[in-house]
Amino acid sequence: MAANVCDQFGKLSLTSSIEPSPETIKDIILDAMEKEDVLPSDIPKEKSFYEGLNIRGSKRYFEKHGVGHYDCDEGDNDWNSVFSWCIIDLKKQKICYLYYEKCQKCETKAWPQFSYETIEKLAYLSVESFLFRTGRKERPERQGDPIRRIEGPHDEERCEKCIETGQRCC
Ligand SMILES: [Zn+2]
Ligand SMILES: [Zn+2]
Repeated sequence: MAANVCDQFGKLSLTSSIEPSPETIKDIILDAMEKEDVLPSDIPKEKSFYEGLNIRGSKRYFEKHGVGHYDCDEGDNDWNSVFSWCIIDLKKQKICYLYYEKCQKCETKAWPQFSYETIEKLAYLSVESFLFRTGRKERPERQGDPIRRIEGPHDEERCEKCIETGQRCC
């Protein structure tokens, strides 16, 4: 994963008109934590996920997907995907990594923008996973809603998550 992810996200926040601000995202995540009596101090520090952390076992970073909107900077193209992946950091209550998808017209990388409601869902799912991984709940909830295609099949050749893992992310 790229180490300059937070720069990418910062850039995205400035140019996006629909994505909630980092302050709002923090509030959404704190709300989701509060509903389950999870305090920021409950979240272990752990090292940064891009310093070799195995995200699957993490009790701080949670990889989740939801509906994201992409807008290609280079051309006149935008699209939605239900498999827009990000990593939520419950310690700092922010989205600390966004996976790109490449534009089908010009191959430029674009990063997803999430609506308020989607971030609420991602935050909820992250807290659920935290509760499961720390033994505070028996069983994790399903990740996301049943699979619904928005605009045709998933373009695995242009999805960073598929490329990175070598297998379909969905
Ligand atoms: Zn493009
Ligand atoms: Zn994918």
